[in-house]
Amino acid sequence: MQTTTLPAGVGRNASPFLHGGEAAAIAAVLPTGQYGHGPVTEQFEQALAHYLGVDDVVAVSSGTTALVIGLQAAGIGPGDEVIVPSLTFCASVQAIVAAGAAPRFIDVDPATLCVTSDGVLGALTPATRAVMPVLYGGRAVGLDSIRDTLDARGILLIEDAAHAFGSRAGTRMVGSTGALTCFSFDPIKNLTTGQGGAIVLRSPEEARRARSRRLFGVTQSREERASITSYGVEGPGLRCELSQINAAFGLVQLEHFSTVAAKRRHLWRTYRDALRELDAAALVDVDVEHSVPFNCVVRVSAGQRDKMFEVLRGQGIGVGVHYPPNHSQPAFATWHRPLPVTDEIGRQILSLPFHPAMNDEAVHYAVAALGRALRSTS
Ligand SMILES: *Cc1c(COP(=O)(O)O)cnc(C)c1O
Repeated sequence: MQTTTLPAGVGRNASPFLHGGEAAAIAAVLPTGQYGHGPVTEQFEQALAHYLGVDDVVAVSSGTTALVIGLQAAGIGPGDEVIVPSLTFCASVQAIVAAGAAPRFIDVDPATLCVTSDGVLGALTPATRAVMPVLYGGRAVGLDSIRDTLDARGILLIEDAAHAFGSRAGTRMVGSTGALTCFSFDPIKNLTTGQGGAIVLRSPEEARRARSRRLFGVTQSREERASITSYGVEGPGLRCELSQINAAFGLVQLEHFSTVAAKRRHLWRTYRDALRELDAAALVDVDVEHSVPFNCVVRVSAGQRDKMFEVLRGQGIGVGVHYPPNHSQPAFATWHRPLPVTDEIGRQILSLPFHPAMNDEAVHYAVAALGRALRSTS
């Protein structure tokens, strides 16, 4: 192994990026003794709302709980079907199942790894109550052409925007388009709080229900509870709030987000230009003009992918596969349906090392290694 001589960061597929102020911000919360939801969490919610240009944002414990609570706050539950791409992180599907609903898996466009309007329309059934597009790689999913059809049938649009913090749909920020939108702030996402998530809901009533859901179904705020001898439990809920410790982390990340966004765009364009040399690797497009890219994915021949993965890992290059399709996972066997396009894509995709601590040299190094692996395994 000669990993010590590799360019910075090329050994990891993804990695959190710290700006330097995070530790001090976390340390400042410790003496308050308030480690659950608190004023710093609310400050973070307001900062997110300001950044996205919306009235309100509800912070929660993870991207997964954002999806579960988002679905539930919108009234999705048992008996309802939710359309979701099979090619996503398993959390999207587990969230639908946790809400008591049934996932209906669909294919994605191989060029973008995102769902299409036609794909969604073709999968509608009388039980469809929601569509959950995944903003794969940070790319906004344009379902505008079928928005009226979905609205007329009372079908909710709930975006899994775990990859897409900071991206835009045309001129509007993802999260401000009127769709119910869920973000993840886990360690490798565009913005991190250590662990956390956030939901942009469609109305103050939905936001109120989400806030109750994230704290045991209790309706009163912490301040209100301090001056009364009882509290109301209005409905179901668990502990899913965002800790002040995580919120303080997130406030620092948000303050410096523009540097991360610029770096991610730069890295993606550097990859795009370098990959033009490799005919056998097709770059998955993220619409870099409008997106803050989350990852960099190529498609190679299905017969070669696993071998290339092995070869590149053996050389210390942090390649990955995002994601193994969900429609064939044992946990989701009940909802399996044949998806030949996704089966094929699932054998072709390879994620290249992509995170803000990398430099141009690391990108060129990864692409050169990819080229050699393509030739040696063909
Ligand atoms: C990360 C991720 C999630 C889950 O977010 P967590 O914060 O890790 O719970 C959901 N969907 C997708 C597509 C993700 O990448």
